[in-house]
Amino acid sequence: MTRAPRGLIAPLRRATTACAPGAAASVTQHVVTRIPTAHGAFDVAAFSWSGDETPKEHLALISGELAQLRAAPSVLCRVHSECLTGEVLGSRLCDCGEQLDRSMAKVSHEGGVVLYLRQEGRGIGLIQKLRAYNLQRQGHDTVEANRLLGFADDERDFSLAGLMLDDLGLRGTPVRLLTNNPRKVEGLKAAGVNVLERVPLLPLDVSEYNAKYLNTKATRMGHIYAQQSGAAGASPPRAALLRPFLPRHLAGVAVDDA
Ligand SMILES: [Zn+2]
Repeated sequence: MTRAPRGLIAPLRRATTACAPGAAASVTQHVVTRIPTAHGAFDVAAFSWSGDETPKEHLALISGELAQLRAAPSVLCRVHSECLTGEVLGSRLCDCGEQLDRSMAKVSHEGGVVLYLRQEGRGIGLIQKLRAYNLQRQGHDTVEANRLLGFADDERDFSLAGLMLDDLGLRGTPVRLLTNNPRKVEGLKAAGVNVLERVPLLPLDVSEYNAKYLNTKATRMGHIYAQQSGAAGASPPRAALLRPFLPRHLAGVAVDDA
């Protein structure tokens, strides 16, 4: 029987940070339990965040002993945003389910943390995301669709991730971040997370359904689809790097800034 990692037992601990003049956001850790998954067993801690307009639960999936992770030279980390359609329904419009699965497998293998943030649809919520899908069916890309609905390209707030890592005692630990998104690296650094390195998560399941979405992420949102790791903050290479991952019949049309 495995004990819960130290530091996760006491309920209702708070980590706070200044988020706006006169205001401070905080997270509260409510419970931790152990869950065996297809990718191995994780200690799962549930948090709430004062920054949520409606109450939500955010999770930290921890593989390995926290004390060892805190003392390690670096820790592998994925900051993953909820995507019900991709993760539960197996939607092929995006690569979120695959990214979560592969992140859990890598973190389980090496030790580390997956933060699962309830920021569906890059922060616009499930209903608005489905509305955005309808706009995409009319020919708009994912960025245009968000804007037509009155949202920014990315409404997520990564200060939440910083607070969760802080609560886990990992804010100061150098993080190797599993992501293709340099803006996520910058968002986490702005939240005080010590991002040492970006570790790519290349899409494996590229299809006619998600190719345009992946291409938009590369050309309009700066995502990097290259094999090599990058030092955090390194400038993104050209979006044409996505081309090898597109189906042949889409490769010539999808990447528009080569
Ligand atoms: Zn998704």
